[in-house]
Amino acid sequence: MATTDAFAGLECVDCGAIVDAAESHRCPDCGGSLDPTYDYDAIDLDRETLAARPFDSQWRYAELLPFDRESAVTTNEGATPLVDCPELADELGVERVYIKDEGRNPTGSSTDRGASVAVTAAARDGATDVALPSPGNSGQAVAAYAARAGLDSHAYLPSRSGFTNKAMVNVHGGDMNVVGGRYGDAAGAFEEGLDEHDDWYSLAAFATPYRHEGAKTMAYEIAEQLEWEGPDVIAYPTGAGTGLVGLAKGARELRELDLIDELPALYAAQASGCAPIVEAVEDDREEHEPVEHPDTICGELEIPDPAASPRVLDAIRETGGGAVATDDPDILESAVQVAKSTGLELIPSAAAAASGAWELAERGAFDGDETVVIVNTGSGNKEADVLRSHLMSQGV
Ligand SMILES: [Zn+2]
Repeated sequence: MATTDAFAGLECVDCGAIVDAAESHRCPDCGGSLDPTYDYDAIDLDRETLAARPFDSQWRYAELLPFDRESAVTTNEGATPLVDCPELADELGVERVYIKDEGRNPTGSSTDRGASVAVTAAARDGATDVALPSPGNSGQAVAAYAARAGLDSHAYLPSRSGFTNKAMVNVHGGDMNVVGGRYGDAAGAFEEGLDEHDDWYSLAAFATPYRHEGAKTMAYEIAEQLEWEGPDVIAYPTGAGTGLVGLAKGARELRELDLIDELPALYAAQASGCAPIVEAVEDDREEHEPVEHPDTICGELEIPDPAASPRVLDAIRETGGGAVATDDPDILESAVQVAKSTGLELIPSAAAAASGAWELAERGAFDGDETVVIVNTGSGNKEADVLRSHLMSQGV
């Protein structure tokens, strides 16, 4: 299985050591987590070259990924539409609003991007079994890509995960462990499982260097879809932080390659019932403090102890972004309002990004000439029951 020409191995985010990609998921020197690194001088990629390629999958950017397209475990994830929403721009009082509709990925969420890259790495590294804890969507995605690669998969989902996630892990033939309680309980059960099985290859967020690496292709697509002009702001629903860290890296790489001039300001959107990143930003801390009693209807955002928070906070600071939390009823109402005015179906957790954008507008965060992208990380279909119960609570 071939790595790409510019891929230079894995770099420790703590001490800078370069590790051979096949060896480890942790820095042998300091135990830090690893990040794929590249020789950018060896990458010859310009706007015309990209424009000449079909917009068909995230692997059209293979020069900037660790593995070539021929060896990728892929179902053509990525290449999702960026939908112009002028009615939302009017409401927010900005120039343009687009929704990046990640719900149109193969298993209906943005996690397909990272699952594709991470399962490709697992297959290359000779793994027989991949395993992860997940609030839901990433468990479904990994089960799908593992199935395609012929690997066994083990997902640990909290009992509160959506029916679709649980059903589809089973449908893909994955080993499903439903753990009573919340995400923290599932993560604990996963760690026990990992301890008991020497042959399991972890695909937990940031344990593998490759999930956020897949997520970075969202930044490439958004920039290219806006013809390399902007956006000014990206609002992203944030749980573990793979998406936000990936977006920051992708944007940084585009700047390194002179494809864009400025990084978009990245805003982490969370739910008030579990907002460790927002609290850390407000207190100007370098890392989060765990949320003791997380409670939000947005399961994908209910990550009370996001281990990679320093990297998420770096991404926010480096891009001049911020963080915003809104309440569950406002989040669900945003999903309904967006569905009514644009026809697009937001997963409740992603509606936190829409709701967060409204909150930012109310706070006067926008000048009026911005282009704002709201990322819909999953298909509203996955949690139609949650959206419907919100309507019923409103007496509809
Ligand atoms: Zn290190």
